Amino acid sequence: MGLLDARITNRNNVLVTSVDNVMNWARLSSLWPMGFGLACCAIEMMATNASNYDLERFGIFPRSSPRQSDLMIVAGTVTMKMAERVVTLYEQMPEPRYVLSMGSCSNCGGPYWNHGYHVLKGVDRVIPVDVYVPGCPPRPEALIGGLMKIQELVRMEGLGLTRQDALKRLAEKSVDTQQVLDQARRAATA
Ligand code: SF4
Repeated sequence: MGLLDARITNRNNVLVTSVDNVMNWARLSSLWPMGFGLACCAIEMMATNASNYDLERFGIFPRSSPRQSDLMIVAGTVTMKMAERVVTLYEQMPEPRYVLSMGSCSNCGGPYWNHGYHVLKGVDRVIPVDVYVPGCPPRPEALIGGLMKIQELVRMEGLGLTRQDALKRLAEKSVDTQQVLDQARRAATA
């Protein structure tokens, strides 16, 4: 708040914004993921929470109860046995709640795709997923990228808007990757 303090203290300033903006800013600045992990990806998730990456600067820190969490990071292999527990935990989270699928196992079964008879081929078969982070395992930087995508999604939400509306807004605002790559190629060959 240092910079803001210097600008606002002792002056009769007025800030004009919408209720949506204030609410979304407060929510995206205090995402609380549930503290649970399923396999090796969870080690990267723990590393992301450690001091090197300092997730608390985004207001993100893990909670130990689903009832106090608004984000579920599915980090690791979802076995058939665990899938039921994942659904139970998801149902215990209050709305609005978000799900980030971290790593190939959670995204699509990963290395167990062919022969893992005991592994669910994607957690989105049992709960809705908002953001997928690829990798085996994804590095902390990739997880942080995924968390920032969740923040973008929250920023697009508003009173009276459904999640689908917010996703549509986000897609309209998203950068066209192909266009960026074409521009970079043209710049490299110029
Ligand atoms: S995606 Fe790779 S690192 Fe992550 S849980 Fe599966 S096997 Fe482990």
